[in-house]
Amino acid sequence: MLAIGPFEVIEDSLGSLPVNYWVYKKDVEDAKWIFKNTPKMIDFFSRLFGYKYPWAKYDQVTTPRQGGGAEATSATVLGEQVIHDRRAEQDFSWEKTIAHETAHQWWGDLITLRTWAHTWLNESFGTYSDYLYTRHLRGEAEGAVDLLRKKNQYLREAHNKYMRPIVFKRYDRPQDNFDSHTYPKGAVVLHMLRFIMGDSPFSERLAIFCIS
Ligand SMILES: [Zn+2]
Repeated sequence: MLAIGPFEVIEDSLGSLPVNYWVYKKDVEDAKWIFKNTPKMIDFFSRLFGYKYPWAKYDQVTTPRQGGGAEATSATVLGEQVIHDRRAEQDFSWEKTIAHETAHQWWGDLITLRTWAHTWLNESFGTYSDYLYTRHLRGEAEGAVDLLRKKNQYLREAHNKYMRPIVFKRYDRPQDNFDSHTYPKGAVVLHMLRFIMGDSPFSERLAIFCIS
């Protein structure tokens, strides 16, 4: 990933791990509080996945030419819409997106798919991770609402468009698999798996998966 622009760099850290935010000058003050939980997210996911953050640094870069977020190894590009003032945060929080992209450092960058049939490895885990962070940050009730939203998002697609298996080889273009079967349904199925296995066995298996 290559991003070039007149960026200001806000330097943050988690212990000795550099965590930096690359933003335009006008956005520096808002970016400081918008990104401030990033080190906590890295710490949370490191513990949850049983695998320490795998890279030497983590950067987040804002750009006008990006819709949501896109992860690359040790750096994420985020649309400049991530920057807003505190009042807008009430209605348009990007915290979940920041968490989702951070989780991709494990799910997508450390562990990556062999073919697009397995898009769930990136996006179901990314989406489940943003739910887990939401629940961790805001509590059970907020987490339950988030999970219900994800389930309903999948059901709308299943009801109005089509149904397919989560692992799906019959795609025309890779982006065909970036749908509500992969993101929210995959996340909810991972939640079901965790419920069946129990918290500790589920976390232990995630760690084994990351190590192997
Ligand atoms: Zn994603």
